[in-house]
Amino acid sequence: MPFAFVPNAAPIPASERAARIADPGFGRVFTDHMATIRWSDDKGWHEPTITARTTLTVDPATAVLHYAQEIFEGLKAYRHDDGGIALFRPDANAQRFRDSARRMAMPELPDDLFIGSIEALVKADADWIPSIDGGSLYLRPFMIASEVFLGVKPAAEYLYMVLASSAGSYWKGGVRPISLWVSHDYTRAAPGGTGAAKCGGNYATSLVAQSEAMRRGCDQVVFLDATERRWIEELGGMNIFFVFDDGSIQTPPLTGTILPGITRASILQLARDAGLSVREELYSIDQWREDAASGRLTESFACGTAAVVTPIASVAGPDYGFTIGSGGTGQTTQRFLDQLGAIQRGRAPDPYGWLHPIV
Ligand SMILES: *Cc1c(COP(=O)(O)O)cnc(C)c1O
Repeated sequence: MPFAFVPNAAPIPASERAARIADPGFGRVFTDHMATIRWSDDKGWHEPTITARTTLTVDPATAVLHYAQEIFEGLKAYRHDDGGIALFRPDANAQRFRDSARRMAMPELPDDLFIGSIEALVKADADWIPSIDGGSLYLRPFMIASEVFLGVKPAAEYLYMVLASSAGSYWKGGVRPISLWVSHDYTRAAPGGTGAAKCGGNYATSLVAQSEAMRRGCDQVVFLDATERRWIEELGGMNIFFVFDDGSIQTPPLTGTILPGITRASILQLARDAGLSVREELYSIDQWREDAASGRLTESFACGTAAVVTPIASVAGPDYGFTIGSGGTGQTTQRFLDQLGAIQRGRAPDPYGWLHPIV
């Protein structure tokens, strides 16, 4: 299905665009266009278009506003030194988008439409990729239940869209080790719930815990499992890794309550191929404290598309606190950050075919 392209008749002038993408931060600077595809019971997927980015007018009884039937994705387009542009593993995002849709009783968007929508949008807005260090174009595909109906049931109409946003460094001031607050009161996902689906609702439930973390002087919250409140799961929007003094690394297993991160999967692959011993096993908060104190644990880091790899400096709970290693960026953490960044930016070989060039 080809995308109808209706160019923005009044795009942002080049000088204004240059000013906006000089230091864009994350999630605030948007491009001239957006992608849209509709789904209805009777027509299936239809009307794929690239148009000027504009506001949505929705009826107040639109289903998503009431029952949160919504899913999203996040991936980046990188400008390479040779001028080419590449996406990182969009096929994995396409598959996860279908998995999320199934869990939320939404229609599955075929992979070619998912990837095609992103390709078409990136082509239209390629000039919005910042050339600054660490710059990229962040793509935000999402889908909402657009039927106007207050009955509780899977909607009969859906709207899929993609936004593009110029991005600099995710953290203000660049990569710096972060502090974590361990939430013992709130959990993010229970067995049988939606923890493995990329749905907005998971973020809604994480925000009160994130505010508590910030009130306690920490940067981010880390969640424990909902059943035993003992096993470390993940941050509000990033997976977590542990590095040990014997060179091995560990991350919690995908049991259905953790979001299967593509950055997580990529790091596991790089680590295995580098000959590191890798474990996908449960790790308890008590063990983390003990291993940090004994020196058996040397590093911890969080990972996700937006910030790629973020070192963890310290961890605090209601009646405890501990530092990871020296509180700085460990060498294994730095290595994954550099290695992934080099592949994404076309500055290192891509042995797994993770890059998807856009021509
Ligand atoms: C998106 C997300 C991640 C990271 O996934 P990536 O594919 O690496 O970006 C981790 N945890 C949660 C809850 C997420 O929503």
